[in-house]
Amino acid sequence: MPDPITMPDPHSPNERIFNKRRKMLVEELASKGIRDKRVLRAFEAVPRHMFVDTALSNRAYEDTALPIEMGQTISQPFTVAKQTELMEVEAGDKVLEIGTGSGYQAAILCELGAKVFSIERHPQLYDRSREILQKLGYRPTLKCGDGTMGWSAYAPYTSIVVTAGAPVIPETLKNQLDIWGRLVVPVGDEEKQVMYRITRRGEGEGDFEEEKFSIFKFVPLIGRQGWSQ
Ligand code: SAH
Repeated sequence: MPDPITMPDPHSPNERIFNKRRKMLVEELASKGIRDKRVLRAFEAVPRHMFVDTALSNRAYEDTALPIEMGQTISQPFTVAKQTELMEVEAGDKVLEIGTGSGYQAAILCELGAKVFSIERHPQLYDRSREILQKLGYRPTLKCGDGTMGWSAYAPYTSIVVTAGAPVIPETLKNQLDIWGRLVVPVGDEEKQVMYRITRRGEGEGDFEEEKFSIFKFVPLIGRQGWSQ
């Protein structure tokens, strides 16, 4: 059983230590090449230690992925920052995330002023992330299910981010992009993936531009347009 979520006193010595470490993490992300000041400010605002088990909270501000329930991970902060930067989020954007996991990336997107939709396939993670996001005052719209099919009810999206490794670029997600919308998705085998950014240029089937970025390692995207279980 995961620990119950209790909100800490923001003035406690522990919280002051976390705040200091969070500032240092932001400096580290900047030194590793994250340039978008708004993204860095969002990282300074979101308490990552609240999204991991208390036994791991001391490691929350290391630039590493950490285990969460169901054998999944909260992505490395640099990875979250890179994906967020590639999405070029503006306040008011409609953004879809596939793989809510801990809820941390969703919180970052809310912090940037986006209207956030996020899908998670594991009910336990869906429940847990919903609780913590709500306690912290973030209001994304969440759903439990297979995110490879997107969420047509709210489409089109200004940007879509997939936070698990896909075998191919999910076509359904491309088709839920707005014109000039961006899909950020890691694609590869189960060992490593290349970060892709697909930008929709127009209404036509071929109106997509593809850019490739560096190599990352994600947990697998499992679903109809992902890996089979
Ligand atoms: N964005 C998350 C990263 C979690 S790891 C965070 O900030 O913590 C990726 C998540 O994607 C896992 O929780 C996994 O269960 C989920 N996932 C994998 N395939 C999925 C699918 N088809 N639909 C929705 N979620 C999926």
